[in-house]
Amino acid sequence: MSGTLAINGGVPVRKEYLSYGHQWINNDDIKAVAEVLKTDWVTQGPKVDEFEKIVSDYCHAKYAVAFSSGTAALHAAAFATGITEGHEIITTPITFVADGNCALYQGGTVKLADIQSNTYNIDPQCIKKTITSKTKAILPVDFAGQPCDIDEINEIAHEHGIPIIEDAAHALGAEYKGKKVGGLADMTILSFHPVKAITTGEGGMVLTNNVEYYEKLQTFRTHGITKDPKKIKKNEGAWYYEMQDLGYNYRLTDFQCALGISQCKKLDQFIKRRREIVQQYNTAFKDLSEIVAPYEKKDVRSAYHIYVIQLQLEKLRADRKTIFDAFRAENIGVQVHYIPVHYHPYYQQHVGYKQGDFPNAERYYERALTLPLFPRMTTQDIEDVIQAVYKIITFYRNKEEG
Ligand SMILES: *Cc1c(COP(=O)(O)O)cnc(C)c1O
Repeated sequence: MSGTLAINGGVPVRKEYLSYGHQWINNDDIKAVAEVLKTDWVTQGPKVDEFEKIVSDYCHAKYAVAFSSGTAALHAAAFATGITEGHEIITTPITFVADGNCALYQGGTVKLADIQSNTYNIDPQCIKKTITSKTKAILPVDFAGQPCDIDEINEIAHEHGIPIIEDAAHALGAEYKGKKVGGLADMTILSFHPVKAITTGEGGMVLTNNVEYYEKLQTFRTHGITKDPKKIKKNEGAWYYEMQDLGYNYRLTDFQCALGISQCKKLDQFIKRRREIVQQYNTAFKDLSEIVAPYEKKDVRSAYHIYVIQLQLEKLRADRKTIFDAFRAENIGVQVHYIPVHYHPYYQQHVGYKQGDFPNAERYYERALTLPLFPRMTTQDIEDVIQAVYKIITFYRNKEEG
């Protein structure tokens, strides 16, 4: 991938490239999708309702609205909070750009609040300092699958009457103080992209307990159109509908939902497997002082979307890029999650941030490395990753460290 030769003679740990994340689709999933393709419903139909019901029950949320992607779900949630020109949302710099973009789509802007250096989640104290009279929503992310400090964030937000959109794209199936993520914020977003906990190809969802948000999310998904007799201003006949808001076509298809429903049956097994692999990594790396393994808070159960380590660069004779390239040369598909939002040219030009603005996020980013983690990894895959970590870390270890 990188063109760099593997260290110690150029023989890589693996012959075949191991990606950092991968879906797990079996014959039963394929059969479920094929069944739906034989029906009359290939766009939005009964499987969408069924999928929404399964996920909302699983997450203990009252309502769910499926969308064509997690990004569309974020956009819809931003719309439902009423964000428009002159409004701000607060999110973390260590996330995928879609979290900030959802506010920009609606003509609003983005304020970032720095992260905690142990969980890499948004710091509630930094949120507090970032709230202004223009803040319309707070958008914390359950980074890597570890739930954010939702109790503290709820307290801060509700003091100001600001709704929370929790981005749980990494955290389907995670638990916070014994409760499933999904019903703990005003709205919770999920993604079903193939690297996430379960997949529908592309796909996303918003969960909420609030009926007003629920109705807004539904119309936003279909062009802002309603046929609801209670809402339309007049009724000219059975064909009649009204477009009352500017919405989009953000619908998910029935055959994608059939895949989602089938995948849901395996969700708990997938998470269990992810956690087993994390245990194996943690045990294998506990004597390597050059890396910091992920920290899981006592009162949460992470869904472990990704396994992120922090390289202790002062103990290594290499920078992160050298280490990254060394892993790729071993055919280990490491990644970096994420390039801080405020490093992107668009955010620097249009939102007005610069490097140096969020020290915790920046320090984290410089040291971050994501190792492969997905349920379908074999024992050999896991051993290869561990072997590559030892090979690379011992190679670049400081002389003083032995
Ligand atoms: C994947 C992801 C999204 C976007 O989801 P898509 O389904 O890819 O549009 C948003 N936020 C985070 C944190 C994600 O990881």
